[in-house]
Amino acid sequence: MMNHPTEEGSAIIIGASLSGLMTAISLAQEGVNVTVLDKVSDKQRTGAGLKVDSGGLELSKTARLLRKLASGGKSSVQLWSSIEKRLRKEAEKNSKISLIYHSRVESIDQNENYASVMTEAGTHYKTDILIGADGHRSLVRQYIAPNNPDATYAGYIVWIIDPINESIIAKKQDTSHLQTGVQMLSGLNGFMFGSVLDDKDEEGNRRIGAAWYDNSRTEVLRKVGAVTNNIVNHSLDGLDIPEGLIYELKQDASNAWPEPFLTATLHALDTRQLTGIPIKEYVPQKLCDGRIAIIGDAAHVPAPITASGFNESLNDAVALGKAVSKGIKGDMAINALKIYEADRLNKVKRMVQSGQSFSRSFGRL
Ligand SMILES: Cc1cc2nc3c(=O)[nH]c(=O)nc-3n(C[C@H](O)[C@H](O)[C@H](O)COP(=O)(O)OP(=O)(O)OC[C@H]3O[C@@H](n4cnc5c(N)ncnc54)[C@H](O)[C@@H]3O)c2cc1C
Repeated sequence: MMNHPTEEGSAIIIGASLSGLMTAISLAQEGVNVTVLDKVSDKQRTGAGLKVDSGGLELSKTARLLRKLASGGKSSVQLWSSIEKRLRKEAEKNSKISLIYHSRVESIDQNENYASVMTEAGTHYKTDILIGADGHRSLVRQYIAPNNPDATYAGYIVWIIDPINESIIAKKQDTSHLQTGVQMLSGLNGFMFGSVLDDKDEEGNRRIGAAWYDNSRTEVLRKVGAVTNNIVNHSLDGLDIPEGLIYELKQDASNAWPEPFLTATLHALDTRQLTGIPIKEYVPQKLCDGRIAIIGDAAHVPAPITASGFNESLNDAVALGKAVSKGIKGDMAINALKIYEADRLNKVKRMVQSGQSFSRSFGRL
């Protein structure tokens, strides 16, 4: 199956998360017909809060559009799910973009004339360019950088406390004095970014969440198989956290965090509404090979302390759009991806390296 052959050319993007959706919008702005494949279902997903940069003076129309969709027009921390919802809505209404969920890509390849994708269900696609937006364990990265394929464990975990409604905390204490925004707190075995999110319900209640950076769990992460050697295999979903660890986390939280973040943390531990993300890092040496390129966390995995992963993914999407603007038919596709790599490689390398110096001092392997 050829993916919409047109004069403007076609792209397949693997991954319909934030980077994949932003790249789809950016490429469609340049007239490219885009198919986005994701292994997950189309059900709305949840995630952490992200600080979206205001971006200063955006030069291009695409950068302004993506920044507006990501930030919702506000300069505060945004819920991952709110950003995803706005980007998905924009992609769905664009006739040049097809979003296909429940479609796991098993292998990729290329020849002189096209790149190709094979899905688990046996569907074969051919396309002018293939973009891996498939996250930190990217299949596409394995193809592009077989000698440097894996992000490595940085020695700590971040517990993402799902934001709770302010009204739950207001039952215990007055929350009206709490300022919207993020504050950093230090405690036992780490520190916390507590967020009061300006994401109101119908009654005007905000949401309160937190990200707890914890460098004391490497042993248990290895024991439950989340980390093997220096590779992160998976995150810890709240429901999969062993009972004993929940107990320890409650004890540690009670000794470390002030209100309202303590109540939010204990509530998340009681209801298992949290995710533990073992932190990993990846410094790229390459971003493309022929007609195939990587963007977002597939291309670079910085420590979250840099608060740059998402913002640089947005810059990748804008740069890729600019690089394809002269066309991607025939050999022009290869040239366009080289332009993208030349624009982005050194910038994203520096971004990941800036976080590595923090990880070396905080992480415990
Ligand atoms: C704790 C934490 C806090 C963060 N805070 C910030 C912040 O404040 N500011 C900031 O800028 N960034 C932050 N980031 C980084 C940011 O979340 C990511 O960089 C950004 O969301 C880009 O992710 P992505 O779309 O590239 O990858 P992902 O979100 O990982 O998406 C990859 C997608 O690919 C799909 N996929 C994978 N393999 C296949 C396959 N074989 N076939 C089909 N589909 C596949 C997956 O299902 C998934 O949907 C943070 C990250 C973490 C972990």
